[in-house]
Amino acid sequence: MANSVTHVIVAIVILDLFRHYVFGKKRFPRYLLVIGGIAGLAPDIDVPLTWLYHFFTSSTTDLHGLFTHSLFFVFSFLGIALLFQYYKNIKWAKIFYVISFGWFMHLILDCLYGGYKTFFWPLHYASNFCPQWGIQTHAADIDAIILVLWLIHEEVHERIKDYI
Ligand SMILES: [Zn+2]
Repeated sequence: MANSVTHVIVAIVILDLFRHYVFGKKRFPRYLLVIGGIAGLAPDIDVPLTWLYHFFTSSTTDLHGLFTHSLFFVFSFLGIALLFQYYKNIKWAKIFYVISFGWFMHLILDCLYGGYKTFFWPLHYASNFCPQWGIQTHAADIDAIILVLWLIHEEVHERIKDYI
């Protein structure tokens, strides 16, 4: 599984690139980046949920990766977004598109970082197709590289704007 910080950074960076190059700042207000970043971390809510669960029951079950790491949530949020769009509530449609995207990025990242359990919950198909290339050991380096590249991008982008 990727670091918590990676989940937040990657979701925000990718959304910000879309904001820069696809949607434009008007159509993609900055608070959506914050929502996307939080959604990028949200599936790991099962970690504190496990603590609570252990606190209130004598169970030792680890909830991490049991159900929140499922495409089920990605498609649920996408469905909610489409409903809002259908009813012309574009603001909330965008919010749920971004939540769905952030959630999806979390699943992709965890998969790229190795271990995966339940892509298809509540169905019981095996999710053992994730690559096992051991980049988990470089998690901190990857965070640093992404962050530096993004900072450079931001700087270059601002400078280009200055010329126009
Ligand atoms: Zn996770």
